[in-house]
Amino acid sequence: MSTRFTATVLGTPRIGPRRELKKAVESYWAGRIDAAALAAAARTLREQQFGELRDAGLDSIPVNTFSYYDHVLDTAVLLGALPARFDAITDDLDRYFAAARGNDIAAPLEMTKWFDTNYHYLVPEISPNTTFSLNPAKVLAELNEALALDLPARPVLVGPVTFLLLSKPVDGSGALLDRLDEIVPLYVDLLAQLKAAGAQWVQIDEPALVGDLDDAILAAVDRTYRTLAGTTDRPAMLVASYFGELGAALPVLAATEIDAVAVDLVAGKDSDALASIPAMADKLIVAGVVDGRNIWRTDLDASLATLGTLLGSAGSIAVSTSCSLLHVPYTLVAETELDDRLRSWLAFGSEKVGEVVTLAAALNAGPESVSDTLAASRAALQTRASDPRLHNDAVRNRLAALGPDAATRTPAADRRALQAERLGLPSLPTTTIGSYPQTSQIRIARAALRKGEIDQAEYVRRMQAEIADVIALQEKLGIDVLVHGEPERNDMVQYFAEQLDGFFATANGWVQSYGSRCVRPPILFGDVVRQHPMTVEWITYAQSLTSKPVKGMLTGPVTILAWSFVRDDQPLADSARQVALAIRDETVDLQAAGVGIVQVDEPALRELLPLRSADKPAYLDWAVGAFRLSTAGVDETTQIHTHLCYSEFGEVIGAIAGLDADVTSIEAARSHMEVLDDLNAVGFDLGVGPGVYDIHSPRVPSVEEIVASLRSALEAVPVERLWVNPDCGLKTRGTAEVEASLKNLVEAAAQVRTSL
Ligand code: GLN
Ligand code: ZN
Repeated sequence: MSTRFTATVLGTPRIGPRRELKKAVESYWAGRIDAAALAAAARTLREQQFGELRDAGLDSIPVNTFSYYDHVLDTAVLLGALPARFDAITDDLDRYFAAARGNDIAAPLEMTKWFDTNYHYLVPEISPNTTFSLNPAKVLAELNEALALDLPARPVLVGPVTFLLLSKPVDGSGALLDRLDEIVPLYVDLLAQLKAAGAQWVQIDEPALVGDLDDAILAAVDRTYRTLAGTTDRPAMLVASYFGELGAALPVLAATEIDAVAVDLVAGKDSDALASIPAMADKLIVAGVVDGRNIWRTDLDASLATLGTLLGSAGSIAVSTSCSLLHVPYTLVAETELDDRLRSWLAFGSEKVGEVVTLAAALNAGPESVSDTLAASRAALQTRASDPRLHNDAVRNRLAALGPDAATRTPAADRRALQAERLGLPSLPTTTIGSYPQTSQIRIARAALRKGEIDQAEYVRRMQAEIADVIALQEKLGIDVLVHGEPERNDMVQYFAEQLDGFFATANGWVQSYGSRCVRPPILFGDVVRQHPMTVEWITYAQSLTSKPVKGMLTGPVTILAWSFVRDDQPLADSARQVALAIRDETVDLQAAGVGIVQVDEPALRELLPLRSADKPAYLDWAVGAFRLSTAGVDETTQIHTHLCYSEFGEVIGAIAGLDADVTSIEAARSHMEVLDDLNAVGFDLGVGPGVYDIHSPRVPSVEEIVASLRSALEAVPVERLWVNPDCGLKTRGTAEVEASLKNLVEAAAQVRTSL
């Protein structure tokens, strides 16, 4: 076998340490730079990163992990699998971006979550007419670029099984694994080309294998890797898994002639199984002991112990991250406002590369060779374990003292009558989800506050002006339950994280969410304490401007955790209860301030769903419990709303009923109200506002269309339970289209009401 390596990462961030790629790509879209300038910017970023990875001491470096938009879209291009509707676009780059973002004539590919991460990929569409063909230009170019720099370059590809499992069958396509016979030969051809170009290794990613496996998938793995590894004209082959364990797929892979397997030893438990598979004896295990998804400094002693247990199981061992570093920020160096203690507990991308190199040195040259680094790491972990911010007795005691009824409200039917009396709403009440368009004044005010050009009082005055505009607009439109519009929120999670003890908001911790969109997840490092009300002043100000009810607006505990980097020193369920308590205190304060309706958003409820079925019930149990804890502190006359924003509910439908929210607004426009039947099937009998129009498009829905949606909703839901609202928040839309759309929504509700 080819030279074995000792230290690597499975992939890298690519948006640029200062989001350079985002800026270049957006400039290209806006026509400010041409394709050559975009390519040059991308090349500079890659070369910089290659150099850093080599200088840090990795002896195998992933390439082709760069992407202008998304690596699954890149794979669809590699395999010639873009839908025919983009064929008319002759320029390769423009066709690529059209598939990602859509254009005037063609809708983009759908986007969905990459396993249980916050990265979103584009879903390839495979129709019976798809004729696959190999387009290796991108991977070959990036390989050549790296080889020209004399790097130990290892091209990374999305594997054929994962590609098909993540794709969507369209136009009557059957089971997509049946198409393996069409694409495996293209991979065979590609492997030969990579070898000819000078690649010593290739990495084939098969993360889909950490999900539920059935016989068809296992047979597909067996067939695919017997063929791919059986060809002699190829580089050494690493099959990479991450986000969980390979389980039953591990012996199947091991029985083929692949040269190496990457296993995620942070999220998965494959280490025991590895020892019992004789076929591993002549393979390389790429041991993912450094967490690629979270930002904590690695416990190097524990990792060394794990590596030690693997020593007898394989031909050799390389140290790696558990998954691509795509999911963490570039470097701690960019964090200027971190206190030194907290900094010493963390490892972002470049620090994780350092940890991999240290572990590889310890493994190969003995721990003495890196004893100083190991000692520094140990010392940092100790300060973390003993930091008082990790442990707040008041919060822990309060949680321990709460009985099960802390998460239980009076029966929903009793609440409904009392709330109806208090609120006096018409039938088919109209409302919106929370945010209104982010105007340029909001952005200007936020930037001015950050730069110190205006003070807090001026900032508040400007936000109040925004709130007043939004209230006036809703009154003019005749909406029944108003919102304040959320102008003061930079982000629905960060806004709360900035105010809660136990969270730290980074200055530059950007992570790609999709395409050029990046997020900056806060870091949950300690026990969560709410020192003061977080939203009450804004909501009461809004309420002071109108006699109609204004909804308090909060983010739920599950969503706050899903969109943060979380503690790894206690179960997520425990962190969820702490956040829930803080939100609960806020609901109680809102109620005390006279607010009659509080919405607690949980758009991420489904996002944290574990990848394997066996783990799902336990998750749903604590997630629902945390939501209920956060909302059951108010009395029965306070109406609790929640908002969920995905349209395929499947496995969480029962949990939605379990939330026991008085009113649930839910994305439904794109799925034609099917959600209502699904809810009926699980006995859901609370208020529901299925989104009557899709806010993801600038299109203004007509009155007739909304009337039709409402009539179809009324076939599934009695009028006393039905609410009228858009699909999601209006933050990303323009003011003119929002006003026109909501005018039609109010008119449609009025028409349906009079015909009742
Ligand atoms: N209240 C939030 C808003 O309207 C909800 C956002 C969401 O569902 N993601 O913006
Ligand atoms: Zn939403």
